[in-house]
Amino acid sequence: MAAGAVVVSAMGATAVFLLFCSPVLGFPAGYFSGDSASCGYKSCPATRPSMLNVHLVPHTHDDVGWLKTVDQYYYGDRNNIQHAGVQYILDSVVEQLQLDPARRFIYVETGFFYRWWKQQNSATQRVVTQLVNEGRLEFINGGWCMSDEATTHYSAVIDQMTLGLRFLNDTFGACGRPRVAWHIDPFGHAREHASLFAQMGYDGLFFGRLDYQDKARRIKDKDMEMVWRASASLLPPAADLFTGVLPNGYNPPPGFCWDQLCNDPPIRDDPDLEDYNVDSVVKNFLEIANNQASMYKTNHIIMTMGSDFQYENANMWYKNLDKLIRYVNAQQSKGSQVNLLYSTPSCYLQELHRANLSWSVKTDDFFPYADGPHDFWTGYFTSRPALKRYERLTNSLLQVCNQLEVLGGPESRRGPHGEGDSETLRRAMAVAQHHDAVSGTEKQHVANDYAKRLATGWAHCEPLVSNALTTLSGSENQQTYCLNLNISVCPVSEGQNKFSLTVYNPLSRSVSWAVRLPVNGSRYSVSDPSGRAVESQVIPVSKETRRIREDKGYAVNELVFQVEAPPVGFRTYGISLVPNSPAPAGPSPVAPPFIENQYLRVTFDPETGLVSSLTNLETKQKVQLKQNFYWYNASVGNSDSSQASGAYIFRPNSSTPLLVNSAAKIQVVQNSLVQEVQQQFSPWVSQVVRLYRESRHLELEWTVGPIPVEDSCGKEVITRLDTSISSSGLFYTDSNGREMLERLKDYRPTWDLKQSEPVAGNYYPINSRLYIKDKENQLTVVTDRSQGASSLQSGSLEIMLHRRLLRDDWRGVGEPLSEPGDNNEGLVVRGRLLLLLTPPATAADAHRPLSEEMVLQPLLALQAAQLHPNPQLEFSGLQAALPPAVHLLTMSQWDQDSMLLRLEHQFEAKESETHSQTVTINLQKLFSTLEVVGVSEMNLAANQWKDDMERFDWKTSTGEQPLPRAPTDPSPWEVTLKPMEIRTFLLRTQRRWPIPRTARQG
Ligand SMILES: [Zn+2]
Repeated sequence: MAAGAVVVSAMGATAVFLLFCSPVLGFPAGYFSGDSASCGYKSCPATRPSMLNVHLVPHTHDDVGWLKTVDQYYYGDRNNIQHAGVQYILDSVVEQLQLDPARRFIYVETGFFYRWWKQQNSATQRVVTQLVNEGRLEFINGGWCMSDEATTHYSAVIDQMTLGLRFLNDTFGACGRPRVAWHIDPFGHAREHASLFAQMGYDGLFFGRLDYQDKARRIKDKDMEMVWRASASLLPPAADLFTGVLPNGYNPPPGFCWDQLCNDPPIRDDPDLEDYNVDSVVKNFLEIANNQASMYKTNHIIMTMGSDFQYENANMWYKNLDKLIRYVNAQQSKGSQVNLLYSTPSCYLQELHRANLSWSVKTDDFFPYADGPHDFWTGYFTSRPALKRYERLTNSLLQVCNQLEVLGGPESRRGPHGEGDSETLRRAMAVAQHHDAVSGTEKQHVANDYAKRLATGWAHCEPLVSNALTTLSGSENQQTYCLNLNISVCPVSEGQNKFSLTVYNPLSRSVSWAVRLPVNGSRYSVSDPSGRAVESQVIPVSKETRRIREDKGYAVNELVFQVEAPPVGFRTYGISLVPNSPAPAGPSPVAPPFIENQYLRVTFDPETGLVSSLTNLETKQKVQLKQNFYWYNASVGNSDSSQASGAYIFRPNSSTPLLVNSAAKIQVVQNSLVQEVQQQFSPWVSQVVRLYRESRHLELEWTVGPIPVEDSCGKEVITRLDTSISSSGLFYTDSNGREMLERLKDYRPTWDLKQSEPVAGNYYPINSRLYIKDKENQLTVVTDRSQGASSLQSGSLEIMLHRRLLRDDWRGVGEPLSEPGDNNEGLVVRGRLLLLLTPPATAADAHRPLSEEMVLQPLLALQAAQLHPNPQLEFSGLQAALPPAVHLLTMSQWDQDSMLLRLEHQFEAKESETHSQTVTINLQKLFSTLEVVGVSEMNLAANQWKDDMERFDWKTSTGEQPLPRAPTDPSPWEVTLKPMEIRTFLLRTQRRWPIPRTARQG
């Protein structure tokens, strides 16, 4: 639809439906799509078609935290750890760019640029704006950070890209919009990232790291540049992304590094002085350029002239690059066919596009990444498991905060509970997506800083959430959010005899959860909003939880009951102590032969206490299932030739993991709501096998740590599930929590793998799930954070849960990964795996919604005080639940009158007979308290109108023609979603006050 078109809705004259464009929202002309005469591709320098053109790309790679915190890097603090100061880099580059209009620079990490920009005076800001408008300073990638690709969830990646790109749009208009994705450093590349970049409108992607065998094959075959077909569901070219492998990682060619951090000789061009070297520099460079050209298809090559935190003294680089260009190009008069120019990745990409060649098509991903036969970067898939979980949990909190900011209106930012905001958390989450943040590859003090930022971000959200709940419920009671429920700590439920619990559900369908609250009483009565009694049970807090809390004075019991909450809304339950009740029965030490509810039966081996089989009672499927815990003994790598396991690299010293224990000590809790078999394997490994009455999945809650290292063995702890499923080496892992990829042991789809690490070389990242299957049975494991996983035998799945290492792996972090925890004895980590046993044909019908529930959890708000006399106890922000195939991915305030909405079809094509169908959503009938008065569709990153999104089309060796984009929406406000499609809208809304009773449902 064209921006600015006006449609009168069927609702009648009062509801004029505007498809608004920028003036309506108050955006300056050109904000999203204006085409400045001098930036973008139009600003690219001239090239020489008959020559080899060498695109010299001055750049800096600025990690948003790694060896130092993000702020230490910005200021150049703690230079004793690493000499790096981003503020000086930007100061120096801006000064140097002004000296010569031919000079170019790209900047990538908006999280840093934002810090610098707001400290500049208006004169400097004007200069920078002009440099941007003339394409001399070009933003590339443009997310808040350069996200990790193995351990991030797509939801948080989209958010961090949106945040960075919006700042660039706000600040520079269309000239600030990056054309190229630039993931030069992440340690392997996810297909879903490529798909997202394509949907964000990028014309291409360049990266530096790929498996060394893959790279050798690509060099040999001149296949360093390709079209990545990044979705099996979206029709080409929607998820096609031109992808280029850079020749030297992201470094300059050897001998040509002229930063103050480098030691290469400068160009000495005065023949009167000593060591004149122009002739040898030119000769050397021409050799390197011609050699590089032999690996690529066109007469254009790219050289990354920069590296980590370079250009702090940009004069050194530019002075030598000026000379290099001058002296090499001077050879053209003597017949040289090599032409050097200052350039950018987008200018290089434009030349590749102009070459009009056919490119190979890639459909798998770039995991795992190895830089040598024993150097698989598969350890970081699991490194810092607590930070990985905290990041994922915080994503859920951010989505709740975003939604309630919309639903609560302006009062949510300033109200009875104080001032709150969502930006602080949005920025903290964006920083946490960096490839040395959630990846777990940073120093310990930096990991602490990321966690602190997340906590601070939530502290800013808390008043906002409380204010919004007050607006929607009418109750001004103090809300308390208990974020330590995984260790049964929550002061309100522990200390009060009478309290209430509000359950906020961020999903677009009604969901039921089992809630566990720490309490000190023995019996409670629980009532729902209509006053009906809700069945509840009290069980003692487990011995294991008491151990890891190191407690005196915490709750002794847990109150368990089932809650339900409406879509994008809440329900409030009343809870009061029933006095003088007998203490709950303690656990029984006798393992039952099985536990079951109406859906599942789990049997246990009476000798060992281990799970022995799993039966789906609805489908009458049964598989043998033995599950236990093991650890790989980490290689210590005493010499250069022997690689150690570390924060990045997983290298066990044997392919056979060691058993923690062949049998578990058992304690059993069984009541009408939940059955738990608590298994103790060792002082540092335990698990609860848990089945709730209403649940179609089995929950395995594992607790690992402190991992003992007194025996001088670094340990990489896994759980392994050995089943009777005939999976023959095939297994399936998700990509950033979205589409699934097929994996085959010891195999790569695009080259002949010479396998040199039988375990580590078969590990892949999982962000939300993995599964194995045969004709009858599929076992799907849904996880609560990103982890490494594999299948090394038919029927077997293994997931790495925690790792503690004694050596550094020589990839730069300079610390062994040995998280000390609070007490310096080693970090204890707890998490959950959810198991589903289904027929393969209906597996997605179960694992898609289950994973959605794992990612977006309900927020529990407790109120100690007596409730306001007549509060609303139930509310839904939607008029009705969305269809099961649809996920409400984003609902957040964009500006005063508009919100950003993303709707996602969460099923793949052909994945589900029931749900892999096109669905239609009526945006006007979406919200209960908001009237949608205007809608405009954006690209995925919300930095361009969808209709203005024009990308390069690329010819592929497979020869098929790209399909035209088919208009499928029945009307402007009825939008269709096809499998795996995400659609992004700016909605202009008006609030319906007072809140209709139907919305409150109370
Ligand atoms: Zn980096």
